Amino acid sequence: MARLAQTAGLTDVQQEIVSTVRDFVDKEIIPVATELEHRDEYPQAIVDGLKELGLFGLMIPEEYGGLGESLLTYALCVEEIARGWMSVSGIINTHFIVAYMLKQHGTQEQKDYFLPKMALGDIRGAFSMSEPALGSDVSAITSKAVRDGDEYVLSGQKMWLTNGGTSSLVAVLVRTDEGHPEGTAPHKSMTTFLVEKEPGFGEVRPGLTIPGKIEKMGYKGVDTTELIMDGLRVPADRILGGTTGRGFYQMMDGVEVGRVNVAARGCGVAQRAFELGVRYAQQRHTFGKPIAQHQAIQFKLAEMATKVEAAHAMMVNAARKKDSGQRNDLEAGMAKYLASEYCKEVVEDAFRIHGGYGFSKEYEIERLYREAPMLLIGEGTAEIQKMIIGRRLLEEYRFQG
Ligand SMILES: Cc1cc2nc3c(=O)[nH]c(=O)nc-3n(C[C@H](O)[C@H](O)[C@H](O)COP(=O)(O)OP(=O)(O)OC[C@H]3O[C@@H](n4cnc5c(N)ncnc54)[C@H](O)[C@@H]3O)c2cc1C
Repeated sequence: MARLAQTAGLTDVQQEIVSTVRDFVDKEIIPVATELEHRDEYPQAIVDGLKELGLFGLMIPEEYGGLGESLLTYALCVEEIARGWMSVSGIINTHFIVAYMLKQHGTQEQKDYFLPKMALGDIRGAFSMSEPALGSDVSAITSKAVRDGDEYVLSGQKMWLTNGGTSSLVAVLVRTDEGHPEGTAPHKSMTTFLVEKEPGFGEVRPGLTIPGKIEKMGYKGVDTTELIMDGLRVPADRILGGTTGRGFYQMMDGVEVGRVNVAARGCGVAQRAFELGVRYAQQRHTFGKPIAQHQAIQFKLAEMATKVEAAHAMMVNAARKKDSGQRNDLEAGMAKYLASEYCKEVVEDAFRIHGGYGFSKEYEIERLYREAPMLLIGEGTAEIQKMIIGRRLLEEYRFQG
C-alpha cells in the first residue's frame, strides 16, 4: 500500500531503525493500547521492549553507550510510536530531553555518570519547569534554591511532570538569586538542578515528595504528577553544567528539540486517525454505497491526507535544520504549531466519519479524540508558538527604511 508521510533521503540505518520501530508498534503497541489506556495502566511490557530496542539511548552518543542517532531519526521513531499510542511517546520524550540537555550542557562528570545509565534506560528522565501558577511564563517561577556550604536547599512546588513518578532523574528549574546584580533579568537567575530520586510516589527522597498521579482526560498510562520540594538538599555538583544562572537557556534548548518531538507526535496521531477513517469509510454503507463513495467523505479524506503530508514535511524540515547545527526555533515552532492543529482537525474528521461509533469506547478513534488536545498545550501552547514565530519573522524581515 502506498503510504503517506514517506521521508526521502534516509540512510539505510535510519530506514532500518524506523521500520523496526514500526513493526514493534504494529505488533506490540496497537493491539493493546486502547485497553491499557482505558485502564490508565502503565505499559511496562512495552517500555521493556523499547529498552531492548535501545530506544532510550537513540540520540545518546555512542561513547556513552547510545546509538548516536540524529534528531530526525528520533523524531521519525516518535512519529511511529505515537501512531500506536501517544502515551508511549510521552514516556520517552522527557527522558530524551533530559539526555539531550546533559549532552549539550552537562559537565564531563555529569555526562560520564548519567548518560551510560540513561542509554540503557536504567536511569529515566523527567523535566520540570511548570508550577501551579505558571506554564507559559517560565520566567515567573518561584521555586528556589539557596546555597548552604557545598549544597543547595531547594523549596517550592512544581506541576505537570510527565513521568514524575516513574523517573529517577528530574531536571528541575529553580530560581537562584545569588551573585547576580540587582535588576538582572529574571531568566538570568535560574538554574537547572539534576535531582536523583527513587521512582514511585510519596516521599521519594528526603525533602522531595511526588504526591500521586494527576487524573487526565487522555494521555493516560503515562504518569503526570506534581513535585513538592521542602528542604531538599542537592550537592552543588548537581547543577547542570556546574554554573548557576544558565538554567533558563538550557531548558529552552531542551524544549526546542522537544517541540520537534511534539510535532512528530502530532504527525503520528494524525496518521493513525487517517488510517482509521479511510478504513471505516470503505466498510460503512449508507444510501446503498460505502460512505467513501460520497463526495463529502472523499473530500474529508483528501483534506486529512493533505494535512498529514504537510505536517510531516514541516516536522522533517525542522529536525534536519537542527541536525545541521543551525538554530531551528522558527521551524520547530511552525512544525509544532501546524502539526498539533492539523492533528486535532484530522482526528475530528476521522471521528465524524465514524458517526455514532466514534463515540463508543470500543473504537480507537475515541482514544485519539481525547489525546489530540494535549498536543495543543504541551511544550508551549499555540499562542506561545505564534509569539516565537512572529518574533523570529520580524528579526528575519526587519524593515530597513
Ligand atoms: C499532560 C501534560 C503534561 C505536561 N508535562 C510537562 C512536563 O513534563 N514538564 C513541564 O515543565 N511542564 C509540563 N506540562 C505543562 C505545560 O508545559 C503547560 O501546561 C503549558 O506550557 C501551558 O501552561 P499553563 O497550563 O500554565 O497555561 P497558561 O500559561 O496559564 O496559559 C493559559 C492560556 O493563556 C494563553 N497565553 C498565555 N500567555 C499568553 C500570551 N502572552 N499571549 C497570548 N496568550 C497567552 C495560553 O496560550 C493558554 O491558552 C504538561 C502539561 C500537560 C497538560
